[in-house]
Amino acid sequence: MPAPDPDALTNTGLSTRAVHGGTAPDPATGARITPIYQTASYVFEDVAHAQRLFNLDEFGQIYSRITNPTVQALEGKMAALDGGVGATAAASGHAAQFLALLPLMEAGDEIVSSRNLYGGSITQFGQSFKRLGWHATFVDPTDPENFRKRISPRTRAIFTESLSNPGGLMVDLEAIAAVAHDAGIPLIVDNTLATPALCRPFEWGADICVYSTTKFIAGHGNAIGGVIVDSGGFQWDERTPALTTPNAAYHGTNFREKFGALAYTVYGHAVGLRDFGPAMAPMTAFLTLTGAETLTLRMARHSENATEVATHLENHPAVAWVSYAGLASSQSFGLARKYLADGAGAVLTFGLKGGYEAGIKVVESCRLFSHLANVGDTRSLIIHPASTTHRQLSDEDRAAAGAGPDVVRLSVGIEDAADLIADLDQALAASP
Ligand SMILES: *Cc1c(COP(=O)(O)O)cnc(C)c1O
Repeated sequence: MPAPDPDALTNTGLSTRAVHGGTAPDPATGARITPIYQTASYVFEDVAHAQRLFNLDEFGQIYSRITNPTVQALEGKMAALDGGVGATAAASGHAAQFLALLPLMEAGDEIVSSRNLYGGSITQFGQSFKRLGWHATFVDPTDPENFRKRISPRTRAIFTESLSNPGGLMVDLEAIAAVAHDAGIPLIVDNTLATPALCRPFEWGADICVYSTTKFIAGHGNAIGGVIVDSGGFQWDERTPALTTPNAAYHGTNFREKFGALAYTVYGHAVGLRDFGPAMAPMTAFLTLTGAETLTLRMARHSENATEVATHLENHPAVAWVSYAGLASSQSFGLARKYLADGAGAVLTFGLKGGYEAGIKVVESCRLFSHLANVGDTRSLIIHPASTTHRQLSDEDRAAAGAGPDVVRLSVGIEDAADLIADLDQALAASP
């Protein structure tokens, strides 16, 4: 749960943290690579030891739904990368979003959220969370004041993506954090597309980060997972009774009093994972740890290739517009220079003059780009959101999320840029 040996990484750079964060040699065997602890349960030393663990008087292993050493290594790496105090891994990015809100929300509580979210998140917040009594109000994030206007006495957090999927919009994190803190509520940032390699939201005032590690953190399209990282800086108050009043299941434990800055992370495991169960599998943690070691290298190459592809598309006669925060033509260019100094990431969208039909033809004509619903693979990926990921939304919500009928989304991989450009050129030549 807590980040292991945080002192060893003090003042180290991001690439060092990507390699070493959370992954000291295995204390049991000396194995240099964190083993896959493929076990459901752990033997207690004696009854007194078991009681200390169950009472949360000592951190240790009980059952892999709650903690697992391989998964904890990944939690430590993510906390090190973001500069947080602790992290909670989950079975998927969506599970992480659920667990991120669980400590904050009672039935009837609200969040104010950016409307520029991954399509699945809009559905999760707007439809499925609503059935739990958790209400989301969606606002245009380009003006931070829009969040302030919708905050009510029941609002428990502001939620936004840093760099949005699929629109390629970068939000003003520092200004949005200030709005949240004026209201005494935390800012939760989905930092999936930027990753800590390109943007560290805690440096701009955010309180909690969530990730779909399925994407760039694992990075190879081979494992579904999610992580929540806590900055440890937010002062929980009576508005979040789960963290600040006695918990009956733990003999009246008050998480804020007992765990201080780790209250939110301990709650995520001891209540969130224990009672709802979306734990990350050890094998997934192992694959994600391996991928994360090259995070900074991959994000630099993704950003370089995406810039080349975006520039080429911007000058292509079949293309009406390109949205990529790394292009000077982007409305996000100024914010990208501030928040994404090392690159604007892999994901970009472009509009085809030929509209919906042309979008379908292009995705079906690509050979190197794989036509699938994912981002953040080493391989280049392509999709037409209006007919796939954003299908379930209304026309209005689709347009608002940057997924209109003419839009094609790319996740530019780490292949040779010239080959990717040649593939897109032949696909565009084939489209009406
Ligand atoms: C994919 C994605 C999610 C959901 O993550 P899963 O791992 O697919 O559950 C959430 N937010 C963003 C920005 C994503 O790209």
